[in-house]
Amino acid sequence: MTIRTAPAGRCAGCGLSPAALLVFFCAAWCLALPSGASAAGIPPIDSETSLLVVSPHPDDETLCCAGVIRRVVAAGGRASIVWLTSGDGSELDSLVIERSLRVNPGKMRDLAAMRMREARAAASILGVPPGRQFFLGYPDGGLLTLLTDHFTIPYYSRFTGAVRVPYPDTFAAGHPYTGESLERDFARVLDRVRPTLVLAPSPQDEHPDHRAAGILTLQVLSRRHDPPAVRFWIVHGGLGWPRPRGLHMKLPLSRPPRGHGLGLVAFDLHPTEEADKLKAVRQYHSQMRVISSFLLSFVRTDELYSSLPVPLPGRPKEPARPR
Ligand SMILES: [Zn+2]
Repeated sequence: MTIRTAPAGRCAGCGLSPAALLVFFCAAWCLALPSGASAAGIPPIDSETSLLVVSPHPDDETLCCAGVIRRVVAAGGRASIVWLTSGDGSELDSLVIERSLRVNPGKMRDLAAMRMREARAAASILGVPPGRQFFLGYPDGGLLTLLTDHFTIPYYSRFTGAVRVPYPDTFAAGHPYTGESLERDFARVLDRVRPTLVLAPSPQDEHPDHRAAGILTLQVLSRRHDPPAVRFWIVHGGLGWPRPRGLHMKLPLSRPPRGHGLGLVAFDLHPTEEADKLKAVRQYHSQMRVISSFLLSFVRTDELYSSLPVPLPGRPKEPARPR
């Protein structure tokens, strides 16, 4: 077997550094936008809508997009979720839940199983049936490295001790922890779901796994004929965002510092959608023990989306929010 190697921090597939990868794919995507394109919100939703939410970890799908998921289901459309990791890399979770300072691979895999159960419960509340829930099981904290140093050479997760997806009964069980395998499995999900609308993390997000998920989405969709509409969201928005922290169900989300220049557009939630979002967030018992204030901060009167993965020079400014 021929194994391609690459200098540290570079993609074995194309030789680009993570920063260059980000610039390359975002530039390619933005250049493909129609001339004069500006930020746009969520396209019209109806019974023909097939939604795919790209979630780096269990809980992101609810924090970012519960309102749109509920709207699609209510319209008679199809809603699907793909979780790229199973959340098996949180040392803080291990510390609080297992009361252990040492990372124990068995315990981390148990944590992943718990987080997948919680994700299934949250997805069910939002109306996403088990057949549209796709768990890939790639390494938490390792997605960006998969797209660079470990595109063909398997990555070793120091959290779980795994070099391949260790979770049985998942979509990618047994597949190697490589970027090319991740790309292939993500493409298989796209083939299965055939989305008309994809909601993916913005490559501007502060969390490396989220940035990688955005790049992966751009990378795979840019090779497809007739790609679906894509909207980008941010969960780790920088500088203590969302403010104020905690449950404030009558407030809209403020604009995240890292979303500057994306032209984020508000998608207003009905009170019932917001209530369902709260119910779904509360399914994440393991996370509520650790970061409840952060999670509850996303249960607001709206969600924010952009058609731009990164800001375009000189355009657009955030549209004024009608009040
Ligand atoms: Zn996340």
